[in-house]
Amino acid sequence: MSNEPLFICPRCGAMSHHPTDAAEGYCGRCHDWTRLSTGVYDDGAGGLHIVAGELLREKGYADTPENRETVDRMARRLFADLMDQADG
Ligand SMILES: [Zn+2]
Repeated sequence: MSNEPLFICPRCGAMSHHPTDAAEGYCGRCHDWTRLSTGVYDDGAGGLHIVAGELLREKGYADTPENRETVDRMARRLFADLMDQADG
């Protein structure tokens, strides 16, 4: 296992090992920040791609099905406004 930073763009699938890309969720291929927040990604289709495991790690919560469901709901609510704008 490597501790290298890794960012996989949820929109185009490009991988970056650049520390800044990984920290900011920036995709060099899309020329866009496709990660909205930790564990929350723009799926490029006006929707959200939630990585519950990433959110739980960030918050320090146990990785249980219940907690996964909770962070998934929270993230969708938090970014609902942004997604509505993206639809327009
Ligand atoms: Zn991309």
